[in-house]
Amino acid sequence: MMIIQMNDHCTSLDVARVCDQQERPGCPVRIVPRSGGSCVVVDGDSDAARQAVSDLPGVKSVSITKCSYPLASREIFGAAHPVELAPGVRIGGGEIVVMAGPCSVETGEILLETARGVKASGASVLRGGAFKPRSNPYSFQGLGSEGIALLMEARQATGLPVITEVMAPEDVEWLAPHVDILQVGTRNMQNFALLKALGRVDKPVLLKRGMMSTVDEWLQAAEYILVGGNERVVLCERGIRSFDKSTRNTLDLSIVPLVKSLTHLPVIVDPSHATGKRELVLPMSLAALAAGADGLIIEVHPRPEEALSDGPQSLDLEAFDELMQAAGRILAALQFQEGKRCGLKIAM
Ligand code: PEP
Ligand code: MN
Repeated sequence: MMIIQMNDHCTSLDVARVCDQQERPGCPVRIVPRSGGSCVVVDGDSDAARQAVSDLPGVKSVSITKCSYPLASREIFGAAHPVELAPGVRIGGGEIVVMAGPCSVETGEILLETARGVKASGASVLRGGAFKPRSNPYSFQGLGSEGIALLMEARQATGLPVITEVMAPEDVEWLAPHVDILQVGTRNMQNFALLKALGRVDKPVLLKRGMMSTVDEWLQAAEYILVGGNERVVLCERGIRSFDKSTRNTLDLSIVPLVKSLTHLPVIVDPSHATGKRELVLPMSLAALAAGADGLIIEVHPRPEEALSDGPQSLDLEAFDELMQAAGRILAALQFQEGKRCGLKIAM
C-alpha cells in the first residue's frame, strides 16, 4: 500500500495527475481530503511506482507500508496531536477531556440537573444517549429525536458540547448538525455502513472498541472513518468480554499505552461500562489516566437508583465531583501542565 501525501497548497490538477498515474486495474486509488493537504491512498505499491510519483508537482512525500490502518498509524502520520471536539475543547497530545452525563436522556429536568452538576465539577462534554442499543427489545429504547432536542437545550443552557450515540447509517446526516460528537457504540464498531457514513460528515466521532474486537480490528474500523475524509476520530476502551462475570466486562487497560504507540488518535476510557459497578468507577478512572488515557467518559445520574438504564454503574453528582478531584490529583502527580487539563479541578 502506498500513501502519497500532497502539499497543503497543491491544486486539484496535481491530485488528478497523481491519481491518473497510479490508477490501473486491480490497484484502486482513493483521495482522502485532510487538513494538512490531501492524501492519495493506493492499494498496491512498487519502487517504480513510488519513484514515478515522487517527482510529480504537489507531492510532499510518498510512503510504502504494510500497515492495515495507514491513516490511523503513527508509522505514517507521526506523533499524537490534539483533536478539536468543539470550539475550545481539544483532546489528545497532552490535553485531557472528561465527558459525563446520564446513560440515557430521560427528561429535560434530569438532563439539565446533571449537565449543571458535571460542569461545576469540571467535565467539558455532556453525554446522553437518545438512540439506545439495548440487549432486550422491551428495555427502554431512548427518547430518539426528542432526546436530541433535550441535549440541544442542555447545551444551550450550560455551554457544554454534547455527545450522543448514532446507531443507523441513515441517521448520521441529519443528526450530525445538531450534536458535537457522534458516538459509535461497542455493538456497532464493525457496522461498516455506519462507519462509511461517519467518514462523510464533519463531526468528531468517538469509536468504542467492540466488546469482542481485537486492537487491530478496532484500528481498521477507525480507518474506515478516516479514509472517508473525517480526520476527527477518538478511540474509547470500554471493556471486553471475558469468562469472569464478577464485573460487567473486563477493562483492558494495557491496550491504552499499546494503542497510543500504534496510533496518533486520542484514546479515552469508559470505566462505567467496563465495570458495571459504580464503586469501581473511581479507581479505574485513576488507573486509566495513569496509564496515559487522554480522557474519560463517565455515566452520571442525580439519582442513579431511578435511572432508566445503567443505574448500577452510574455515579451521583457528589461521587462524580469526588472522582474529578481525585483525577486532578493524579494528573498533577503525572505533571500535567496547567491549561492542559480542560477544566479539571485540581485539589492538592
Ligand atoms: C453507552 O455509552 O451508553 C453504551 C451503550 O456504551 P457501549 O456501547 O460501550 O455499551
Ligand atoms: Mn450506558
